[in-house]
Amino acid sequence: MFTIEARDTQTQARTGTLITRHGPVRTPLFMPVATKGTVKTLTAREVGEIGYEVILSNVYHLLERPGIEVIEDHGGLHGFMSWDGAILTDSGGYQVYSLHKMVRVEEDGVAFRSLIDGRERRFTPELVLGYQERLGSDIAMQLDVCLPYGASREATQDALERTLRWGERTLAARALDGQLVFGIVQGGFYEDLREESARRTVELGFDGYALGGLSLGEPREELLAMTTTALAVIPEDKPRYVMGLGDPPGILEAIALGVDMFDSALATRVARGGAVFTPEGVLTIRNARYERDTRPLVEGCTCPACRQFTRAYLRHLYLSEETLALRMFTAHNLTFIQQLLAGARSAIEAGRYLSYLEEWRKRFREGRAS
Ligand SMILES: [Zn+2]
Repeated sequence: MFTIEARDTQTQARTGTLITRHGPVRTPLFMPVATKGTVKTLTAREVGEIGYEVILSNVYHLLERPGIEVIEDHGGLHGFMSWDGAILTDSGGYQVYSLHKMVRVEEDGVAFRSLIDGRERRFTPELVLGYQERLGSDIAMQLDVCLPYGASREATQDALERTLRWGERTLAARALDGQLVFGIVQGGFYEDLREESARRTVELGFDGYALGGLSLGEPREELLAMTTTALAVIPEDKPRYVMGLGDPPGILEAIALGVDMFDSALATRVARGGAVFTPEGVLTIRNARYERDTRPLVEGCTCPACRQFTRAYLRHLYLSEETLALRMFTAHNLTFIQQLLAGARSAIEAGRYLSYLEEWRKRFREGRAS
């Protein structure tokens, strides 16, 4: 199911292939976020053309709107959004805790009021896995208990224990052949609790392991320290996924620790605000200095924006509130991350990931695009 193909010599970075129901995917990989069944502004085909093999969608949002039945009429989420690559669905735990002020966490599951119709909804480990089976996702995530950054040790321990019990129930309920099911490691920012959560989640025997409750605004060193701790007890031959980490420097640092999978809405969200990834840092298109700039966003970039248009033209589109600008910046940022990962995979295969990482660290440090 998961094969490691190359290992870097000086870091823990590795490349691999994960077999899903929709074909093999190469790691390390990044998943563009299609929360509501679309990577905002792009068609699924366009996302595939950039080179992506897996996208992430979300049970919580799809359940609220349009509802699972409408998607089932299309044979599942692949048919609904016209995507034949792989799909990972998030269980909705994180959305429940981040979008709702009143959430009742009980042993059976979580209860909250729908933001759409005000009715009470319940998520249990079994229900959430069942939804992911009906959506036909290739990789399902277990329901977990998420806490904000800065949660107490006692609350963290409690969330960890409940997440483990829910993990066990998730595995007992699995029914869809070939669907991969990933467990979620919690433990907050307490090193011993992270270690304990990772060890006991591994004992349950999932197909892959995600690190949850990170990338919540904590200092980068804390995220990397928790990742190192957890990965030390997760078997080498399983895919490892840091949920919600998706800024270019963060991705490259985590790959060096042996992380295989990433997702984040950052690249596409900032694109819609006119922020463009470049090797020199983030370029803010509205700045006056680009008014008569006839260069592409990034020299040599293969995205549709850089192949066709100048910075001045894209700035004009953006300031005129033309929707084409948002499509172009989204395509560009996703292309930038895809190229960063393709470069990482080649560097690992050549056994020179450390120098690739150092090169990018220097660029990010000295970057003054703005
Ligand atoms: Zn571009």
